[in-house]
Amino acid sequence: MTKAVLALNAGSSSLKFALFRIDPTNTPTSPSHRIASGEVEGIGTHPHFRARDADGKVLVDESWDAHEAGTPDAHHGPMATLMEWVGEHLGHVELMGVGHRVVHGGPDFIRPVRITPDVLAALTALTPFAPLHQPGSLAPARALMAQRPDLPQVACFDTAFHHTMPPVAQAQALPRSYAAKGVRRYGFHGLSYEYIANCLRARAPHLAGGRCIVAHVGSGASLCAMHEGHSIDTTMGFSVLDGLMMGTRCGHLDPGVILYMLREEGLDAAAIEKVLYHDSGLLGVSGVSNDMRDLHARAAHDPAVSAALELFVYRFVQEAGMMAASLQGLDGLVFTAGIGENDAIVRAAICARLQWLGVRLDAVANIANSEIISTSDSKVEVRVIPTDEETTIRRHVMMCLA
Ligand code: ADP
Repeated sequence: MTKAVLALNAGSSSLKFALFRIDPTNTPTSPSHRIASGEVEGIGTHPHFRARDADGKVLVDESWDAHEAGTPDAHHGPMATLMEWVGEHLGHVELMGVGHRVVHGGPDFIRPVRITPDVLAALTALTPFAPLHQPGSLAPARALMAQRPDLPQVACFDTAFHHTMPPVAQAQALPRSYAAKGVRRYGFHGLSYEYIANCLRARAPHLAGGRCIVAHVGSGASLCAMHEGHSIDTTMGFSVLDGLMMGTRCGHLDPGVILYMLREEGLDAAAIEKVLYHDSGLLGVSGVSNDMRDLHARAAHDPAVSAALELFVYRFVQEAGMMAASLQGLDGLVFTAGIGENDAIVRAAICARLQWLGVRLDAVANIANSEIISTSDSKVEVRVIPTDEETTIRRHVMMCLA
């Protein structure tokens, strides 16, 4: 029997998974022990379940109609389907534990933790800190606890990597009473940053021991200021809205704009939330799309699209300047996630505006998506490293089961 760990990364309507063989030779970053991975999309409407083996061969591809549209129970069906599939189609696998990406750990959950009913209740109580994301990230754990109460489950937090930020980077200049209520800067994308920190330790110890900006640039995007492999600052703060301009989120915004929306436009919290989370960023400014590939295709003919791309790069460079200030210098810059790993045009535009910090891009290496994309005389070494949050989850589960 092969012992395995299942890593789950749930959103409100999707559930990504990766199944890993447990092997004594596993290292924190070894990706070679993946048995299968895939996703269920359209949860609550028309779930579509796809799984592939380690070589990319499709193992399953099926859809069905959901009956629990829009309810927290919408994850029960997909979770049961996934577990049944693991049991039936991968009969040689003995599941030792399941790890969940949980968006918010609040002030107290600063390392992975075994999920018990009490832990689940405590994590549910953090919903006001991440109202759009926390319920979705806990739903599979709740479903699985009902279906397989004996199966160990571990919560792995996106916030936890940033608990090393000094108090000054966690603070907000609000009345002290807010900090006591937990209203402070947390930071997110921690599972991705932890993976990259481990990669740097293995492949680039000079950067792991130095001052790096790691840029997780996907649909959601943030920067992490890493000193000796630890987070000392990050651009997302209390919520996943802060910092960089994103696919549909606004990033850093003068809070006066929210007061304007409340007073002058009569918008309520839900309407403002929709503007800031879903209608802003690349989509809002371009007016056409939140997908970088689409935007590049249209930029030459549509001034709103080129303005959106210009702002995306401008904001990135501003926030990178802030992270460099927190680090008091810069040795490395690492790009990761969908845009960071694939978009040579955006990387080139960003690096051109970071020359003042000592960044020199190797244009050929950049277009080739090479791992090192800076010139040999660049003061700042620039790398492209694909992220793998599921591998971090696997590691956390193994730590908790040990
Ligand atoms: P998430 O996991 O947060 O949904 P991803 O890390 O998958 O996001 O990133 C999604 C973003 O990556 C989208 O904006 C998409 O346009 C962009 N992206 C993916 N592939 C490419 C590519 N080849 N060139 C440019 N952008 C890309």
